[in-house]
Amino acid sequence: MRLILLLSLVTIAAFAQTAPGFSTGNMDMTANPCLDFYQYACGTWMANNPIPPDQSRWDTLGKLQDENLAVLRGILEKASANDPKRSAVEQKIGDFYASCTDEATIDKLGSKPLDPELKQITAIKSKDQIADALVRLHLLGVGAFFNFTSEPDAKNSTQMIAGIDQGGLGLPDRDYYLKDDPKSVKLREGYVAHVQKMLALLGESPAQAAADAQAVLRIEKELAKGSLDRVSRRDPNQTYHKISVKELAALSPGIDWTKYFAGLGTPSFTEIDVSFLDFFKTLNAVLTNTSLADLKTYLRWHLLHAEATLLAKAFLDENFHYYGQTLTGAKELEPLWKRCVNATDGDLGFALGQKYVEQAFPPDAKARVLGMVQEIEKMLGQDIQSLDWMTPGTKQQALVKLRAVANKIGYPDQWRDYSSVKIVRGEAVGNDERATEFEVRRQLSKIGQPVDPGEWTMTPPTVNAYYSPLHNNINFPAGILQPPFFDNRMDAAVNYGAIGAVMGHELTHGFDDQGRQFDAQGNLRNWWTPQDAAEFEKRAECFIKEYSAFTPVDGVHLNGKLTLGENTADNGGVRLAFRALMTSLDGKPQPKIDGFTPQQRFFLAYGQDWCQNTRPEASRLRAQIDPHSPGRDRVNGVIGNMPEFREAFACHAGQPMVHAPACRVW
Ligand SMILES: [Zn+2]
Repeated sequence: MRLILLLSLVTIAAFAQTAPGFSTGNMDMTANPCLDFYQYACGTWMANNPIPPDQSRWDTLGKLQDENLAVLRGILEKASANDPKRSAVEQKIGDFYASCTDEATIDKLGSKPLDPELKQITAIKSKDQIADALVRLHLLGVGAFFNFTSEPDAKNSTQMIAGIDQGGLGLPDRDYYLKDDPKSVKLREGYVAHVQKMLALLGESPAQAAADAQAVLRIEKELAKGSLDRVSRRDPNQTYHKISVKELAALSPGIDWTKYFAGLGTPSFTEIDVSFLDFFKTLNAVLTNTSLADLKTYLRWHLLHAEATLLAKAFLDENFHYYGQTLTGAKELEPLWKRCVNATDGDLGFALGQKYVEQAFPPDAKARVLGMVQEIEKMLGQDIQSLDWMTPGTKQQALVKLRAVANKIGYPDQWRDYSSVKIVRGEAVGNDERATEFEVRRQLSKIGQPVDPGEWTMTPPTVNAYYSPLHNNINFPAGILQPPFFDNRMDAAVNYGAIGAVMGHELTHGFDDQGRQFDAQGNLRNWWTPQDAAEFEKRAECFIKEYSAFTPVDGVHLNGKLTLGENTADNGGVRLAFRALMTSLDGKPQPKIDGFTPQQRFFLAYGQDWCQNTRPEASRLRAQIDPHSPGRDRVNGVIGNMPEFREAFACHAGQPMVHAPACRVW
């Protein structure tokens, strides 16, 4: 699954301006579009939109998210008034939000809500009891040691199977443990200091907390060494190993798997996809070679880490100090109401989303969006047919895959039923735990069941979109189908440039370096001739070189291999959307609007999708872990490859926005 964004976006009211929309007022008219188109499209926006203190990055998506959060806040404040006429859905979301915003109660409780789990960890007498503790922790979404859930079988994509993956790290990536440059060493030292402070807040003596923090780092460093790196994980063949449960037990006998699976109450199964086999050998070595006391410390830390944002202020502040300030450069914690709107969306998002859609996404919008998506799909069909580098047999297969793509727009047909989740006023942690447990169990119950093609993984208010290679579908939550991405008030050029490019982007993911390895049914199956695959890779190599040359922050280059899929999708997406616009205009002469031709407005709207300011800390973090390029490179990287852009702005060869060579796959 690929998203157009990686990290959750959250914003601050003080900086919210008028309703966002495409505007020539965002442009820097003193810039030359052929020298730096991003500055031309976004220069005034960037000058007028400094990063709010509680953010590490501020952009067009963040501003839209801000609008959506305000709508959701209205819904939640109304639902949290203790009105006896509330519907069942309103009771759940309203009481959840009311508990989350009840700071006085949260502060009074300190870390008390974690007592049952802390006691269970303390009571562990021997290593074979670790499986029992993991059952409880994994039901609460605590990421200790590894991740276990259900997934479509990549080679039999109509069936859900058990899947287990590497995990167990507190830092954002394995490389944070392994790199020895001064910056990485400093961030690692900061992490140890953070773990120490958190454990001290839990009541450990300073000396004990210091020793325990070192133990956590030792364990996580070993797990990191045994983890597959991010670029290799982009290759679906490297992360699919269906083996028997017996083989898993032989690989990692340190965990009592029978007890673990039974404790979680999963349906019975005999086969499991182990994404990376070596990791489970490493895990076994860690369990064998680490003292029981240190393993218990590690579990305690991960519990605390997972729940920190719902605990008393001291925990919350220390968590922000490291994960917000040190890692991303944010200056302040977000206001409480925003954190709680996001928490409600995270835990009960398909209940909250139901109310959101009623307010923000009418049926006629859904119909119009679907029409645009279908136009763009038609363009990809024409594109595939016209390719000079692909043989007819492979083209045929590509067209079969394209025709099978399912379009999911706005929100699911069936709303999720949360009636079994108990939400109690005053229990912020308890509510979160019960909602998380409900979701974990819901996922696990799918093992052995057929795949549900109608299920959504993003909540309706989310400002994001995705393509799922295993389902071969594209998904556009109602949250992104809002101005400035989709705007009823705007001309076709702006809508195709803004949301059309996102639609084309998601569709192209089905045919990027990852997506192309899956067939029409979502099976991991090679349908390319060796010759066509080699031609694809030759073209992809051009993107790898192009984007590897970009430097988002001093001394840091983008990773052209990590970002290849997203860059391929951006380039293909804008091209498809442009063609769809041209088709809709049908060669008829068009008046200029605000002094710009439709072609120019198309590119300006695309550019303004990605107007952005980013703190250097966040740029550094994202260059390591984010498969998406920063806004500037998403814009200039794409338009420089397009002769249509060159023509629209009368740029000439040799100028920076006219790339040589111009890269193109789709
Ligand atoms: Zn994407």
